[in-house]
Amino acid sequence: MPITVVGSIAFDAVTTPFGQRERMLGGAAVHFALAASFFDEVRVVGPVGDDFGEAELDVLRRRRVDVGDVERIPGGRTFFWRGEYGWDLNSRETLDTQLGVFEGFSPKLSDTSRSSDVLFLANIQPDLQYDVRSQLPDARFVALDSMNLWIDIARDSLVRVIEQVDCVILNDAELRQLTAKPNLISAAREVLSWGPRAVVAKQGEYGAALVTAEGFFALPAYPLEEVIDPTGAGDTFAGGLVGYLAHHPQSEIEHTLLTRAMAYGTALASFNVEAFGTERVERLSGEEIAARVEELEGFTRFESTPLQLLA
Ligand code: AMP
Repeated sequence: MPITVVGSIAFDAVTTPFGQRERMLGGAAVHFALAASFFDEVRVVGPVGDDFGEAELDVLRRRRVDVGDVERIPGGRTFFWRGEYGWDLNSRETLDTQLGVFEGFSPKLSDTSRSSDVLFLANIQPDLQYDVRSQLPDARFVALDSMNLWIDIARDSLVRVIEQVDCVILNDAELRQLTAKPNLISAAREVLSWGPRAVVAKQGEYGAALVTAEGFFALPAYPLEEVIDPTGAGDTFAGGLVGYLAHHPQSEIEHTLLTRAMAYGTALASFNVEAFGTERVERLSGEEIAARVEELEGFTRFESTPLQLLA
C-alpha cells in the first residue's frame, strides 16, 4: 500500500564524538521516506526553500520516492537544525532550530498523496499533523511521531491528533512526559485509552517496546560496535516499521504483525546510525536488511526449559 509522509525536510548540522557535518540532508520525512522506500511507494509532503537543490531531491528520487508534493517556497529557507551528541549517544543537545519555510506552511496534498492507504505524521506542529490527517479520512493505517517541544507548548493539539491515529511512536521519556505517568506501561495504556491501538516506545540504544490491547513486546537495538551518528534513527525506525505494515495489505494490522514490523524498524535504524545523516541508508540493499532481521531473530529467541526451583 502506498505511504504518504508529512514532516520536516531539512539541512542538519551535526557534531558527534566521531566527526561533524555542517550541512547535510536530513529531516524526519526524509529519513522516514528513505527507510520506507524499501517496502512500497512513498510520497513526501513538506516545504523546502530556494536553497534546497536538485541534488538533495535526487537522493529521494533514486529510491523512487515521489517528491511531487515537496513544495518549493520562493524566497524561503529550508528548515535547519543543529545538534550535538556527547559520548552518551542516547542524549543530544539541540543548539539551533530555524523553522524557515515551516513558518506559515499549510500542507496542500495532491490527489496522489491523498489516495495513500498508509499515512505517517512525522514530527511537526500537531495542528499541521491534524490538518493532513483530515485530508486522508479513509487511510487504513495512520502512525504519528512527536517530540518534547510539542508536549510542552501544544499538548492539547497533540492529544487531539493522537485521538485520530492508529499508532503512536514516541521516545519513552516523551511518553512519560505526555501522560505524566512515570511507568512506561501505564503511560502506554493511557495513550491507548485515547484511541490508538498501538503504542511504540523508542528507547534509543536499548531498543523499542510495543504495547497493544493484546499484549507487550520488546526488542533490543541491533548490537553495533560502532555508532557514528544517531540523527534520524527514530524516523528510520518508523520508516521500517510502517513500511513493513504497508507491504502487507491483506493482513490485519494486529499485535503479531506489529512485532515483525518492529524487527524491520530496528534493522533499518541500525544501518542509519553507522554513518552521518542519510549516507548509509542511501547505499543500503534489501539483502542487507533481510540479513540483519534474521540475525535479530536469532539474538532474541530463547527457550525456557522446566526447572525445579528451590522453595
Ligand atoms: P530523530 O533523530 O529521529 O529524532 O530525527 C532527527 C531529525 O529531525 C533531524 O534530521 C532534524 O532535521 C529533524 N528535527 C529536529 N528538530 C525538529 C523539529 N523541531 N521539528 C521537525 N523536525 C525536527
